Amino acid sequence: MGLFRKRRSLRQGIGCLRLADYNTGHAECTSFCSRAELKIVFLAGLASGARIRAETAQRFSWAQFELARRFRLPSPEIVLTASSSEASEWRHSIWQQMLSAAIPAKYGHKFINPEALKTESWPDGRAKYVPNGLRMVETLLLREYSEADVVTTCIENLDKFVGPETKLVAIHAHNPLGISYATDVYSKLAGENLMPVNAAEFLKIVTHPVIKKYRPKIVVGGPGAWQLERANRLDEFKIDYLIDGEIEKVFSDLFRRIMAGDPSLERVIKLPKSAQPTVEEIPVVRHRSTFGVVEITRGCGRGCQFCGPATKVGRSFPLDHILQSAEVNAREGATEVMLASEDMFLYEQLPNFETNVPALEKLFESVAAVPGIETIQTSHITIAPVVKDPTIIERLTPHVVPYSHLRHPDSTDPNNCIADPIIGLETGSPRLFEIFMKGKAYPYKAHQWRDVVLKGMETLNRHNWFPFCTFIIGLPGETEQDTKESLNLLYDLRDAKGMFVPTWFVPLENTRMEKKASAKLIEMTDLQWEFFFTCWKYNREFYAADRSSYQWTFGVPLYYRLLGKRLFGEGIKYPLWRFAGWPDRFMRKRLYLDFTGYKRSKKIMRAPVDQIVPGFKSVREHGLNMIDATQLQYLAAGADAAPATGS
Ligand code: SF4
Repeated sequence: MGLFRKRRSLRQGIGCLRLADYNTGHAECTSFCSRAELKIVFLAGLASGARIRAETAQRFSWAQFELARRFRLPSPEIVLTASSSEASEWRHSIWQQMLSAAIPAKYGHKFINPEALKTESWPDGRAKYVPNGLRMVETLLLREYSEADVVTTCIENLDKFVGPETKLVAIHAHNPLGISYATDVYSKLAGENLMPVNAAEFLKIVTHPVIKKYRPKIVVGGPGAWQLERANRLDEFKIDYLIDGEIEKVFSDLFRRIMAGDPSLERVIKLPKSAQPTVEEIPVVRHRSTFGVVEITRGCGRGCQFCGPATKVGRSFPLDHILQSAEVNAREGATEVMLASEDMFLYEQLPNFETNVPALEKLFESVAAVPGIETIQTSHITIAPVVKDPTIIERLTPHVVPYSHLRHPDSTDPNNCIADPIIGLETGSPRLFEIFMKGKAYPYKAHQWRDVVLKGMETLNRHNWFPFCTFIIGLPGETEQDTKESLNLLYDLRDAKGMFVPTWFVPLENTRMEKKASAKLIEMTDLQWEFFFTCWKYNREFYAADRSSYQWTFGVPLYYRLLGKRLFGEGIKYPLWRFAGWPDRFMRKRLYLDFTGYKRSKKIMRAPVDQIVPGFKSVREHGLNMIDATQLQYLAAGADAAPATGS
């Protein structure tokens, strides 16, 4: 009787495990089996590729998992991975991750907390979270393969999965060589040929011993994959295929050809604009993404020439799709979601780039109600809508600020919470603005940009939005006068609350400026260095005001003597001194801006103007190069665009 019961429970265990495997990709059985029986069930489960839940898997030792894998399991056909610096959720901060990855790998151990490169795995070795783009590829693969054949893992566990049967390893590349705006600049401050952490981490994957041993096909995709082609490193890293573009629409056919080694397939696969999927063609991801990223929009339409999303058709994901993605993340342990967008104000946008506030309110309310989600992070916004209708921020603040995990003592929120969306301010020069990014200020004109930035910042700060603002130094044709205009804007922002991050111009692939030359650190003018280090003086004072400035006051001159002067010349000397906290009265004759006697105010900054009258009435006015997403249905049908209904 006892034996019969044991056999029955074992059979039930295996049966329920199989069912769970095929239906959900997970396995869990605790009802009938004894501890010993459970072990047999789950080791058998491993052989059938089931994914074991954490609480169940804790009953087994690593050795048992290993045994099962090595002797009973074939290696999966497809392994997906991403570098630790891109997959890590360290501090739940995208910009801290971004800047950490900009540090030269040589000095990484000194400046990077080892936690910043840590990722987490399930007991079976699969990654708990990876970049959202990789999750999307996994989801598309899981339409045609089982979970046993497709494994997403971190580099630490690559050797547990890549084996003789593995046909393909797909690598997500956000910034594989570190030649994007931020990393390219900051890593070079310590020397021209230093490799940033991002690049070093990518290298660890492509040179991993198991990759060399089993020689699976290597496919690289993601927003920074183009860097490998531009730097001509495909042969060196033995990359078989590089995919550049949105993949969902063409995935099935493309992957079949890749797996079959179709000789007619180009090595560098550039997906055209016509291959961009509709939101209906983009599935809900099957597993959790790093930072709990949930896409709410794709594409922009404001038309900035240096920007990739500018060329993508603007799309908003249906609320149901967004909530399902949030639920997937929460179910697998995420307590925070990041609502990813090129501009949050484009979500369900109305004609003429009007912000749809009710839709945004509903979005935040619904996401906050997802069981398990405690905090919500925003990604990018533009500043012009904040000025056009300040009630947008007023109405959204109760849905955004209290749900942020970020704190700052200057916040008036009861818990000192702040929102820190990313905003591209780019330049203070109306001339450069007019040439490269005039749609960014819509409905305002280039000459109104300074007022728009100041008014927008005042409104944002008043509601505890302390944004992460980026600037681009060295846009093609930038003159001394242009840099002075940017410095003037920066001076006007001296009491603003937020982060100001200067980057150097890099011609990104798939932008209208991809053929332009990069700005070079070595060619930076004294004014550009002043701009760069004045931004960092602000950041130091705002985010590290309570910390001792002793290390900067004496460490920075040391850097100048030992390295900075040799690498960049004497032009960086006085800007560096300002950054280090030396009083401006010693440098006022050497620098453009003069902060002598100035002390940072804790009050809300005041913009010089209260009302700014929009310079444009419609996105279709002459000279604008914007795509109004609400008009696309007319454009697609070949008909004349419907009359704009906005102001
Ligand atoms: S506003 Fe300009 S820079 Fe920002 S996403 Fe849109 S096109 Fe790109």
